[in-house]
Amino acid sequence: MSKEKQITAVKGMNDILPQESARWEWLEDVVRKVMARSAYRNIRTPIMEHTQLFTRGLGEVTDIVEKEMYSFQDRADKNGDAEHLTLRPESTAGVVRAVSEHNMLYEGGKRLYYMGPMFRRERPQRGRYRQFHQIGAEALGFGGPEVDAELILLAAQLWDALGIKNWRLELNSLGQPDERREHRAALIAYFESHADQLDEDARRRLHANPLRILDTKNPAMQSLVEGAPRLMDYLGEASQKHLEAVQAILKANGIDYSINPRLVRGLDYYNLTVFEFITEKLGSQGTICGGGRYDYLIQEIGGKAAPAVGWALGVERVLELLKEEGVQTPEPAPDAYAIIPDVSAVPAAMRCLYALRSEGVAVQMHAGTGEGMGSMKSQFKKADASGARYALIFGADELAAGELTVKALRDGAGEQQRQSLTEVSKWATALK
Ligand code: ATP
Ligand code: MG
Repeated sequence: MSKEKQITAVKGMNDILPQESARWEWLEDVVRKVMARSAYRNIRTPIMEHTQLFTRGLGEVTDIVEKEMYSFQDRADKNGDAEHLTLRPESTAGVVRAVSEHNMLYEGGKRLYYMGPMFRRERPQRGRYRQFHQIGAEALGFGGPEVDAELILLAAQLWDALGIKNWRLELNSLGQPDERREHRAALIAYFESHADQLDEDARRRLHANPLRILDTKNPAMQSLVEGAPRLMDYLGEASQKHLEAVQAILKANGIDYSINPRLVRGLDYYNLTVFEFITEKLGSQGTICGGGRYDYLIQEIGGKAAPAVGWALGVERVLELLKEEGVQTPEPAPDAYAIIPDVSAVPAAMRCLYALRSEGVAVQMHAGTGEGMGSMKSQFKKADASGARYALIFGADELAAGELTVKALRDGAGEQQRQSLTEVSKWATALK
């Protein structure tokens, strides 16, 4: 056989191997508990959606829609129609589509959360991948500032539960469409008068979507952006009140925040409250979570108008931050390791293991090479390495007496007892 070139993973798309995925599972468990405590329910939408959902929902003139989406034309069906599909770059649009398609707001507001992979064709670097994972929370059908605050507090509770301390919160208001229109005119005038300082992206966006220029990642444009007219100064009374109400709730909860009038977020669908949780510990990929209110998105994608607010966090960045902060996550280990000196003992041993597992004991079975089970010494070595607290020894003497030996490997190491092979429920729980 000729040697073929090794096939590797796609650039920017990572394998998550067992040692790492144990940390993922731990984080996901914490998330489920925190979400349940605030009565947020899980929703799972497809990874692929019609391209239109994103072009209409996120805004044509955004980084994601202009250059980051994985889109393709499906094969034609019998009628010759080929659909334009996209791997989701984010999940809010999909959740909104599902909520509207299934009429979920018929009986009132809904609180939802999701977890899953997203796809963006960005330049891969630390904290920035082409397949990455988000966990998000959305509250749909509620218009009041208390739900904006509830979502911010939900994220804060999650940081607490995970043991993350190095975060700060930035807050802004993007106002309402009429307020944005006035600000937009001022923004265009400002940037036009500094046209020589605009980069290519900014020049292209100047008339299509000037607010987007404030979201630039180009360091050369930062001082220009700093001096731009602030949307904050164009807010009407209702928008101001909304922001103040959110702030009052945060203050009552002792949540520190700063107002950042430049915070516009990367997507077009936001209005009123927007916020980001930022850490200084991850370099330039420091935003771990971002969100805001999106009262016009549902009607934008053809649903019945309803207010909504939500956030999404980047799982890879949060896990990286946990590492930076030295947060220890539990190492998975079985309760017991089954040592089987001879292949002839395998059937009886495995019957016992089945019963133990049914009792909730986690057991790793020693497996041989196909030519035998290996020496006792090597089996004990593997038992130690597994992290198990007990070794279960299925020796010939023991089996002849209808028993096995349970030997402590950690606390009280060396202590051992004979137990019944069949009456497992009498002693199993002591191993958990
Ligand atoms: P950034 O400004 O860092 O590009 P964004 O504004 O595009 O982020 P959102 O679309 O709001 O990010 O996504 C929410 C979160 O998802 C981000 O705060 C970040 O933690 C994470 N995230 C976004 N893009 C990536 C990516 N390519 N790789 C890893 N995580 C990402
Ligand atoms: Mg981005």
